[in-house]
Amino acid sequence: MSTSKFSALLQSKCPRCRVGKMFEGPIYGFKKQTMHERCPHCGLKFEIEPGYFYAAMYVSYAFSVAEVVSLGLATAFLTKSESPWLYIIVLFSAIFLFAPFNLRFSRLVLLHYLSPKVSYNPQYERNLEK
Ligand SMILES: [Zn+2]
Repeated sequence: MSTSKFSALLQSKCPRCRVGKMFEGPIYGFKKQTMHERCPHCGLKFEIEPGYFYAAMYVSYAFSVAEVVSLGLATAFLTKSESPWLYIIVLFSAIFLFAPFNLRFSRLVLLHYLSPKVSYNPQYERNLEK
């Protein structure tokens, strides 16, 4: 059975084999998030070209805008407050809370959906079953 692209993305798996993990450790924790340089299963080099993850900034920016706009609207609807301090506190804490999530998933979205050079090879998963 092959893993779907979306579930591989949610489990932060490698875009080529969908078996090896791209990141070490959990998304939230006291240690800094570390990404493997190469996939531990198939050996794909995640940073395809030098500076490749600069492109993940655009994905991360889209995530941040979506998070801040939806949280700002939710705060407005739920509290009906006009105090700028409430919005500053809510939105800045959201930016800090979502930062590790944005880092990990912007890179995952970039490699899984926006990188034409990286394609899924089901052979790696089939070899695992044998
Ligand atoms: Zn892999």
